[in-house]
Amino acid sequence: MVGLKNRMQKTEIDTEGAEEENENHTELAFDFNHSFEHMDWWSGLADLDRLNILNSPKEDRARLLASKYSKPVADIMVEIGRKTDLEYIEDFELPESPTKLLSMRLIHNYCCLPTEINDKGKLCIVTPWPPSEKMSRWVFAVSGLKPLWRLGPPEKISRAITENFGVGADSLDDEDFEEDGQDEEQDDLEDQNAAIIRFVNEVIQRAIVDRATDIHFEPHKDTLQIRYRIDGQLVPVRVPDNLRSFQDAIISRIKIMSGINISEKRRPQGGRITFSQGQSDLDIRVSTLPTLYGESLSLRLLNEKSQPLSMQELGLLGVDERNIISVLEKPHGIVLVTGPTGSGKSTSLTAFIRRIHKPERRIMTVEDPVEYEVAGINQTQVNSEIGFTFASALREILRQDPDVIMVGEIRDRETADIAIRASLTGHLVLSTLHTNDAPGAITRLIDMEIEPFLIASSVEMVIAQRLVRRLCSKCSKPTTKSDKEIIASLALLDAKESEIKYKDKILEAFGCPDCQNLGYRGRVGIFELMRMSDPIHSLVIKSASAPDIREVALKEGMSTLQSSGWNQIKRGLTTVDEVIRYSDSAIEDHELEDFSSNA
Ligand SMILES: [Zn+2]
Repeated sequence: MVGLKNRMQKTEIDTEGAEEENENHTELAFDFNHSFEHMDWWSGLADLDRLNILNSPKEDRARLLASKYSKPVADIMVEIGRKTDLEYIEDFELPESPTKLLSMRLIHNYCCLPTEINDKGKLCIVTPWPPSEKMSRWVFAVSGLKPLWRLGPPEKISRAITENFGVGADSLDDEDFEEDGQDEEQDDLEDQNAAIIRFVNEVIQRAIVDRATDIHFEPHKDTLQIRYRIDGQLVPVRVPDNLRSFQDAIISRIKIMSGINISEKRRPQGGRITFSQGQSDLDIRVSTLPTLYGESLSLRLLNEKSQPLSMQELGLLGVDERNIISVLEKPHGIVLVTGPTGSGKSTSLTAFIRRIHKPERRIMTVEDPVEYEVAGINQTQVNSEIGFTFASALREILRQDPDVIMVGEIRDRETADIAIRASLTGHLVLSTLHTNDAPGAITRLIDMEIEPFLIASSVEMVIAQRLVRRLCSKCSKPTTKSDKEIIASLALLDAKESEIKYKDKILEAFGCPDCQNLGYRGRVGIFELMRMSDPIHSLVIKSASAPDIREVALKEGMSTLQSSGWNQIKRGLTTVDEVIRYSDSAIEDHELEDFSSNA
C-alpha cells in the first residue's frame, strides 16, 4: 500500500478559507505537499509550459506533458507517480453508488472517482493528476474520511465520469458544497442561473467534441431527454436525474441564446446561435416545436471549420472516380446526385466542385445553406423569406457568365426547367434530387413535367448514394460470424457466394474511447452510378418506368448500393450490418414533402 507521504520537504500549508478555524485543523493537515499544485516535482520544464499545463483541466495535463516529451501518456503517468509517491493504477472499478462516498460535485470539480473504503478506513480515490491539499481537505470535510489518492489513466477517468454522472451533472447538483457557506435566496437564484448557463454550454461543447451534427432536447413525461446525432445515428446523452425540474429554465436559456421569443410557447419558432469556441465560431440553427410535455428543441451544428472532403475521402473507388471525372470534364450537361436527407449529397457535390476547379472555369453555386466554403468559388445562399429561391437565384446566376453551376437541390418544376435549359445552352450543372435510386431521378424529373427528350439530352450521369458509418480503425475486429451467416449476407449484398473467400477481410465494430464506444468514427459513401448510354437514352425518351431503366442499367454493369457497399466492406471500411441497413433505407413518402434540409 502506497501512502501519501511525500519525499519532499514539507512547506507552508495553504491556510486560505474558513477551514483554518476548524478544530479539525490538525486532522486536515495531511502530510503531503502543497507544491503538487505548482508542479515543483517536475523538473526541466519551461515556466510557460508549466503554466500552460496548470491552466488546463486536470484530465488534459498528462496528455500535454506526454506531447511535450513525445512519450505515451501511460509512461508519463507512471513517472508522475514515481515523482510524487502516488501509486499509478491502469484499471479501476467503481463501487455500487459512488456518490454515497463522494458528492457528485467533488467528482466533477476535481475530476476524480472514489473506488472503495479500504480496511484502514480511508477513502480510495483515483485521479488523473496529483491532488492539492485543498482537495484532500474537501474530501475529508464532505465524506468524513481521509483520502488515499491514486493516479489513474486520465482518458478512462473522464470518460467514466461522463458515462456515470452525465454531461454537466455537476452544474445542476446543488447539494452540500457551498464554498462560502452563504445560502441567501438571491444567491441561490443566481447560482441556479449560472448553473443552467454552464450546463447548456457543456452540452454544446460535449457535442462538438463528440462530432455531433445535431442536438435534440426532447421533453417526455418524466424526463428531459437529450440526444446527439453522431455519424447519422442518435446517441442518448446521460443526464442527471433531476434534469426534468430544470427543463423550463434550460429551454428558456437556449431560446434566449438563439434570439427566439421566450414567451411564445405554442408555435414553432426558429433562430440561430453563434457559439464561440476558442478562436472560431460555430453556427447553430435552432428550431422549437410544441409537444405534449413542453417545447422540443433541435439544434443543428454547422461547423465552419469542417473541411470539405476529397473524392477519395468520400470512399469512391478508382474506377467510379474516373467515370465521374470524365463526365465532370465535359463543358455541358447535368450530373445529379440522389439520396434521402443526410445521405451526403452536398458533401459529394462539393468534392466534385473542388476536383474540377481550375482558374479558367468560372464556378457558381446556389445553396441552402452554404455548408462548406470552397476557395475560389462564388457561393450564394438562398433566402426564401425574401423570395430569393433556388429558381430566382439560378436565373440571376445565368446572367453572370458561369461555366459550371451547382444548384443545392432541385425541388420544383421551375428550378428543374432552368437547370436543364442552362445545361443545354453550354453550362455544366450539378445538382441533387430527393430520390431512392439513380433511375428514380429520371422519373422524378418527368413527374415535374419536364419533357423526356430534354431530360435525355441533358442528363449525363445520375449518382445515387448513401453514407454508412466508417469503422473505427483503432478497435475494429475480424468477424466471428459463421460461413452460413456470411453467405446469407452476401445474397443481400448482390455478391456471389464465391466471395466468401474474402471472409478474412470482413470486420466488426467493437468500441473504444477513440470512438465514444460506438465502434464507428466518421462515414464513407456507397454509390450507384448510372450513365446516360444510348439504350437508356431511348428508354427515357419513351418515358419508360424506373424499374425498366434500372434493368437495362444493371445489364450495362451499373454498380448497386449493395455491391458498392460490399466493396467498402472488403476494404475494411465498414460492416455488413451498416451496408444492409442503409442501402435498404427507402425514402418515405413524408420525407419527399420535407425539403427543410438538403444534407
Ligand atoms: Zn474505436
